Amino acid sequence: MAFNIAIDGPVGAGKSSVAEEVARRLGILHLDTGAMYRALGLTALRRGVDPALEEEVLGLCRSLHITVSHEADGQHTFVDGEDVTGLIRTPEVSMAASTVSRYDGVRKEMVRLQQRMAAETDMLVDGRDICTTVLPEATVKIFLTASAEKRAWRRFLEMREKGLPDSYEQVLEELKKRDDQDMNRKVEPLRRAEDAVLLDSSDLSFEEVVERVQAIAEEKRHG
Ligand code: C5P
Repeated sequence: MAFNIAIDGPVGAGKSSVAEEVARRLGILHLDTGAMYRALGLTALRRGVDPALEEEVLGLCRSLHITVSHEADGQHTFVDGEDVTGLIRTPEVSMAASTVSRYDGVRKEMVRLQQRMAAETDMLVDGRDICTTVLPEATVKIFLTASAEKRAWRRFLEMREKGLPDSYEQVLEELKKRDDQDMNRKVEPLRRAEDAVLLDSSDLSFEEVVERVQAIAEEKRHG
C-alpha cells in the first residue's frame, strides 16, 4: 500500500504551501485537491454555466477530463489537456470552486480520481475531506487550522504580492463566506476527522508548521 499523508483544513490555513514543502522534504508527491475543484469552477465560469445549477455543473463535470501532473515547479492542473494552473487562483474561481464542490455527484467524481492517484503512489494529499472521505486509512492524518484573522492576513499578503487589489477586509469577508459554505454544505462538509492530529498554526511560523508536520509524518512512517 502507498504511504499517504492526508491534510485537511479551512481556507488559508497554509495547507498547500506547507504540504508542498513537506512533500519535497520527504521525497513524495503533493496532490492539491482544491486545484481540481478550481479547474471545474473555472470551466463553469468560462462556459457560462452558473455554478449554482447542480445538474448543469454535474453534466459539465462528467464531460471534462481533469488531470494533474507533477513538474519541477509543482503541480500543474489540466482541463481536457489545457494547462489551467495559472488561471485558477482568482477570488472568482475560489468562490466558484466552493460552490461546485457542494454537489454530491461532483464530489464522487473527484474523490474517485483522487483515490486512484493516491493508491498508486506515495503522496501527501491536501483538501477538505481527505482524512474523512478520500483517504480515511492514510498513515498520517492532520487537521491544519488557524484563526480566521490570521488566515485572512496571510491570504491578503499573498494576494498583494501577486498584485491583486483586494483589501484585508474584503479578503476576510470572502474567507468567512467560503468557510461557511465549506463547513455547512450537506455533502461531506469540512470537519476534523476524530483521529486527525489538530495543528493550530495561528502563532507558528511557516517553518515551524513544516517541521511539526514533517516530524509527525516521519514518526508514523518509520514507527
Ligand atoms: O483548497 P482550495 O482553497 O484551493 O479549494 C478550493 C475550494 O474547493 C474550497 O473552498 C472547497 O470548497 C473545495 N474543496 C473541497 N474539497 C477538497 C478540496 C477543495 O470541497 N478536497
